[in-house]
Amino acid sequence: MELNGQVALVTGGSRGIGLAIARELATAGARVAVVGRNAAGAQRAADELPGDGHRGYSADVSNAEVVNGLVRAVEEDLGSLDILVNNAGLTRDNLLMRLKDEDWDVVLDTNLKGAFNTIRAASRGMMKRRAGRVINITSVVGITGNKGQANYAASKAGLIGLTKSVARELASRGILVNAVAPGYIQTDMTAELTGEARTTLSSQIALGRLGKPEDIAPVVRFLAGPGAAYITGQVLVVDGGMVI
Ligand code: NDP
Repeated sequence: MELNGQVALVTGGSRGIGLAIARELATAGARVAVVGRNAAGAQRAADELPGDGHRGYSADVSNAEVVNGLVRAVEEDLGSLDILVNNAGLTRDNLLMRLKDEDWDVVLDTNLKGAFNTIRAASRGMMKRRAGRVINITSVVGITGNKGQANYAASKAGLIGLTKSVARELASRGILVNAVAPGYIQTDMTAELTGEARTTLSSQIALGRLGKPEDIAPVVRFLAGPGAAYITGQVLVVDGGMVI
């Protein structure tokens, strides 16, 4: 229970990777604020976490004013905000020539500006307390690029630049900022992959299988905990050996 007494905020914690992260942090003793646009989904997830004191919040991370209010509410309701996990994300895949302006904007606004909004809001309190952990969920495609995902890959590459810059800025205040880059993980986001595509993908992964949300969550728990006290500005790839 290494996170006993700590408060974590997990954006996109209502399902998929974010829900597994929320569960893992709760198992480690943290009280968790679960955030999604859908209020019922966030509350349902918070209710099913192990332990007491978790809460669901409805917020769109791309809206700075909403995020400022969210962070204030979490600090008031739960008493602090020690661990911020920027996991909310979405895709609007298409080949470059077919990408619409709105496909670009919604992906960048959610995946990249969303993380900027939450870090800016949460770091005020963390700086005062001289302690905090920020963990940003990027993607291997932010490192390698991917056909049909120019918007998504750009947002995830941007998130890596944001992670490294903020890590340098906030280190002297005791705030550690890292990123986790998952490979292909089985969630709603990748549900449309056909059986054939899954088989082809699996053959390109050294460990021979797609990942599960539970493959990512313990890595986030580690980065939030005492064992990671000397790690900042890093990108940890968790992809079963897809990119080596
Ligand atoms: P899911 O689609 O399963 O879940 C996305 C979550 O984000 C939901 O809880 C959703 O809740 C929330 N969300 C989406 N937009 C917003 C928003 N604007 N504001 C607040 N919450 C939002 O995704 P995954 O679990 O697959 O992915 C989680 C993260 O991991 C994403 O950042 C994704 O890019 C990244 N990732 C995923 C990979 C994969 O293969 N699945 C691989 C690499 C990275 P609601 O709808 O209620 O808003």
